[in-house]
Amino acid sequence: MPIYEYIAVDPDKSCGTCRRGFELRRPVERPALEVCPLCKSPVKKVISKINTPKITKPLSISDAKSAGFTILEKRQDGNYEKL
Ligand SMILES: [Zn+2]
Repeated sequence: MPIYEYIAVDPDKSCGTCRRGFELRRPVERPALEVCPLCKSPVKKVISKINTPKITKPLSISDAKSAGFTILEKRQDGNYEKL
């Protein structure tokens, strides 16, 4: 099943989910979603991947470090190396 990405047409009238954009699995034969399933605000399908807001973005090491986390990388010998 393909995954479609949707985002609010009017962010001022949308809930937090569709304002940031969300992904939805839908059968190909189903018509495109026109409103947010949560707040019923109009949504549009995101065509371009370039400007797609990501809901969950993998935390990078530099992000984690700036957030105060200590990054430990497991090495092949079984020990952890502090990055
Ligand atoms: Zn919404």
